[in-house]
Amino acid sequence: MTDAKQQVLKEVFGFDDFRPGQADIIDTLLAGRSALAVMPTGAGKSLCFQVPALVLGGLTIVVSPLVALMQDQVAALRLAGVEAETINSSRSREDNIASWRRVAAGETRLLYLAPERLMTERMLTALERLDVRLIAVDEAHCISQWGPAFRPEYEDLARLREIFPGVPIAALTATADATTRKDVVERLFGNQAESFVLGFDRPNLQLGVEVKRTWKNQLLAFVQRYESASGIVYCLSRRKTEEAAAFLAENGVKALAYHAGMDKQLRDANQNAFMTDDGVVMVATIAFGMGIDKPDVRFVFHCDLPASVEAYYQEIGRAGRDGQPAEVQMLYGLDDIRMRRVFIEQEDGGDDRRRREHQRLDALIGYCESPSCRRRLLLEYFGETMENCGNCDLCRNPVELSDGTAEGQKILAVIDQTGQRFGVGHIVDILRGTTTEKVTKAGHDRLPGFGAGAEGKKEAWRSFLRQLVAAGFLRLDIAGYGGLGITSKGQALLRGEVPFHYRLDRIATGGGKAVRSR
Ligand code: ADP
Ligand code: ZN
Repeated sequence: MTDAKQQVLKEVFGFDDFRPGQADIIDTLLAGRSALAVMPTGAGKSLCFQVPALVLGGLTIVVSPLVALMQDQVAALRLAGVEAETINSSRSREDNIASWRRVAAGETRLLYLAPERLMTERMLTALERLDVRLIAVDEAHCISQWGPAFRPEYEDLARLREIFPGVPIAALTATADATTRKDVVERLFGNQAESFVLGFDRPNLQLGVEVKRTWKNQLLAFVQRYESASGIVYCLSRRKTEEAAAFLAENGVKALAYHAGMDKQLRDANQNAFMTDDGVVMVATIAFGMGIDKPDVRFVFHCDLPASVEAYYQEIGRAGRDGQPAEVQMLYGLDDIRMRRVFIEQEDGGDDRRRREHQRLDALIGYCESPSCRRRLLLEYFGETMENCGNCDLCRNPVELSDGTAEGQKILAVIDQTGQRFGVGHIVDILRGTTTEKVTKAGHDRLPGFGAGAEGKKEAWRSFLRQLVAAGFLRLDIAGYGGLGITSKGQALLRGEVPFHYRLDRIATGGGKAVRSR
C-alpha cells in the first residue's frame, strides 16, 4: 500500500521504508497535531518534517540554530529536486532578497531560518501573509533552561503557536531527559503535543560498570580480553591519558594517546592509525570521538565517570556501529563523584543551573548504582521502555539485594516532615543529627526524625537516597531546585505496603585530584 508519505519517501528521497518512529511522527503532523521527536543523532529526524512538508505543500518554516547546518540541508534538498531556501547572515543581501522573492511567490516548500531572524516583527508579518502549513524547530532542547544548551534566542519561539494558530509544530532533538522534554512541550506547545522518543536502544552493546579499585590493572585486564580489536579508552585528564596509554603499551597492547594538548601532527597520526590499522586501542580524553565513524570499535572503556548520562550515551555510541556485539565498561568510585561535583561548582552560571547539573549527575550515579538492568535504566532515562535486556552485567550476574525498608522509611519520613522541599545534603544532615546552621534555623533539630540515622555514615545515607531515586520512590523536583519529592510508590513504602531493596554500597575510595582538561 502506498500513501502520499510513502510516495514522497521513495520518489524524492529514494528510500523504501521509514525508520522506526518516522511514520508515526509524520502521520501526527499530517493530521494537524504538533509533535516532539526525540531521537539520537543520525536516527533520521530531518525526514520527519521534510516528508510532511512535501505532502502538505505550501510553506514549511524550519528553525535551526546553525548556519552551516541550514546550508547543508538546503543543498541536500535541492539536489533531491526540492525547492528549499535559507535566508541567513552568511549570505549576501542580494542572495537573501532573491531567496525571499521565491518564498513570497509561493515557489518554496521549505524555508530555513535562524530563530532570531524568524522572530523579527518584519519577518513574522511577511510570513503571516503566506501559506504556512508546518513549522519545524530543530535542536528544540535549546528552548529549555534545564537542557544542556540553552539559547536565549530560542525562548521567543514560544510565541509561534499564537502567531500561527492551527499550524502544527514539529520539535526535534537528540538530547532530552524527561525534565527538558517536559519543558519543551510546555513552552513550545502549551502542553498540546504528542511526544515520540525513539531509536536510543543499542541492543548489541553489552553494558557494565565496575567499582574502581586499582584502575590500571582493571583496565589492562579488560583490554587483554580483546586481542587485536579496536577500542576506545576514555580518561578524564590529559596526564592520565598518557599514563594509561604508556602502561598498556608496556604490557603489549597497541595503545596510542589522544588529547587536545598534544602536538597536532602526532595527534593526527594517532587518529589515522586508529582509523586504518587493526587492533589499535585509542586512549583519549573526550576531545576524541567527534565525527569518528569507525564501524568496528569493539569496546569503549571509561576509566572515569563521564559528565552526564547524555555524554555517556554519546561516548559509548561509538562502539559497535557495525551492529556486531561490542562491550562498554565504566569504572566508578567515590572520588569520581566528588570530582564531578567540584567541576559543577566551578562552572559559570547561576545556582539554578548548578543544581540542575547536580541532578544530571545524580541520574548518572543512579545508572552506576542500579540494582537491575542497566540498559532498561538508560532507555528509561531517555523515555523509552523495554524489558530487562539479558545482556548487561546486572542481567548476567544479578546483584544481591538487602532489605532496606526501615532505612527507606526513615528517609522518607524526614522528607515528609520537612515538606518535600530540601535536597540530599540537608536531609542527610537531619538524619545523622548534624546541627548545621540551616538545620537549626529551620527548627529541623526538633523533628522526630532528627538523628534517627546517627549510626550511618554520610555516604551510606547518600547512597540510600540515590537508590531510592533510582528505584522511583523519590523524585527530584522538576523546577530544578534539587528538592526531593515522595512519589506514590514512596508513599506506599511509608505506609509499609511495599519493601525497599538496596544494593550494598561497595564504592571504594581511590586516589586522584580534581584536574580536568580536554
Ligand atoms: P538526524 O537529524 O536525526 O541526526 P538525519 O536526518 O541527518 O539524522 O539522517 C541521518 C541519515 O539517515 C541521513 O543520511 C538520512 O538520509 C538517513 N535516513 C533517514 N531516514 C531514512 C530512511 N527512512 N531510510 C534510509 N535512510 C534514512
Ligand atoms: Zn540488562
